[in-house]
Amino acid sequence: LADPQSTFDLVVEHMRDTTKLETTSALLEWDDHTYLPSGGGAYRAEQVTFLSGLIHQRRTTKQLGTWLEELATSELAAQRETPVGAAIAGWLRDYRRQVRLPQALVEAIARATSLGQQAWVAARSADRWSDFLPHLREIINLRRQEAQLLSDDGQLYDALLDQYEEGARTAEITSMFAELRDELVKLLKELKDASSKPSGQSWRYAIPLPEQRQASRWIASQIGYDFERGRLDETAHPFCTTLGPNDCRILTRYHEDNFPSGFYSTLHEAGHGLYEQGLPIDWFGLPPGAAASLGVHESQSRLWENFVGRSAPFWRWCFPQLKQRFGTAWNELDAMQLFRDANLVQPSLVRVEADEVTYNLHILIRFELEQELINGDLKVEDAPQAWNDRYERYLGIKPQTDRDGILQDVHWSAGLIGYFPTYTLGNLYAAQLMDAMRADLGNVDDLLENGNFDGLLQWLRDKIHVHGRCLPPDQLIRRTTGRAISAQPLVAYLRQKLEVAYSMV
Ligand SMILES: [Zn+2]
Repeated sequence: LADPQSTFDLVVEHMRDTTKLETTSALLEWDDHTYLPSGGGAYRAEQVTFLSGLIHQRRTTKQLGTWLEELATSELAAQRETPVGAAIAGWLRDYRRQVRLPQALVEAIARATSLGQQAWVAARSADRWSDFLPHLREIINLRRQEAQLLSDDGQLYDALLDQYEEGARTAEITSMFAELRDELVKLLKELKDASSKPSGQSWRYAIPLPEQRQASRWIASQIGYDFERGRLDETAHPFCTTLGPNDCRILTRYHEDNFPSGFYSTLHEAGHGLYEQGLPIDWFGLPPGAAASLGVHESQSRLWENFVGRSAPFWRWCFPQLKQRFGTAWNELDAMQLFRDANLVQPSLVRVEADEVTYNLHILIRFELEQELINGDLKVEDAPQAWNDRYERYLGIKPQTDRDGILQDVHWSAGLIGYFPTYTLGNLYAAQLMDAMRADLGNVDDLLENGNFDGLLQWLRDKIHVHGRCLPPDQLIRRTTGRAISAQPLVAYLRQKLEVAYSMV
């Protein structure tokens, strides 16, 4: 009988090789979102479909199953708190999930979502929902089949959610989100009635794209993003992707007449990038070197984008620096005005441009609709109407076009169903992490006001990044922040900040 350590080493080698295929596929997708000519789309779909089949075979081989069974009962697996034990637990979880899915289904999803994303881009730009409808119908149908194969208790949405946020349950999220919604709706009303509101006038100056590009690179490196191990490119829908242990790429977008859009996208994606760059390199491609969950990932991006980047001390530091770059355009502004305008709360149709309060209502709408689509309670062809109705109900505004409605997000075209709730979970985690960081460091505002981000980053490295996927997200956050996940810290943070931004105190 082989000793567990040699078996462990065999699995490590197998997994590292599988990661080479996965990162190759990620590179093809990065290219798809940056430089691929539109004529190359059909063949690209075949490339990623073929790779997804190879990856699935490697993730589900009988040999791997035999090795993992051996390891599951070994003394190595018992050390759940060590990286080795955590690696085995992570592999077993992934294997047991993957092995339930036939390769034909995995390939069908890869093809449908590659073509689906291309169709979505065209349908969105033409504002023609009917062009996207057959693709979304197919994607929902395939993901439902997947959920049926994965679920033991018939809770289909849980099966999809669990893939992005290990251990998360629809019922728990529903009640947490309901509490958050009630608090946010109340806050929204108070802000609407506030006597002094931010004007948003700071953003009225067009900033030329070359200056925006420079400002984005500058702020990303200021917070610690390492350009020797990453790069910043442009795309229609910003994201962050990891192609190797020293190659994590972020993508943003710029609009000449909307400076905060590009600036905050960059801060957001750089926050994701800092997490990836802080994961243990020695464990790259293995659970201890991977992100804990999408919710934890999002907590990192939100923390830098919002909790740091929309704070008053941040703007006291950042404003003079940007004014120097932008010259006369910003001469008549001041730091406080920038801070206030960065916190203007206003119901709007487009999620990615939403403020911190209404953002979570956008997520709630998607969370509800996804469940209905997967459970079959809502027909795909009726989804645009359901979307618009819910915008009216939760945000008091109604999209006039599908482009500003159901066609706005890339996620469903990419098969990402069950993903949206991780955005709001990320906001909740970030609020708790920020409280814990303030308690530990004591002088966070002073650091921000001096543009000294090292202490914050080091804290996140020690508390979150270095642990990779060794703990489930819920445990990682509980352990770091000393409290269970709840809506209260986020609500308290928003209330405190907005009272200042709106001069309600
Ligand atoms: Zn994000």
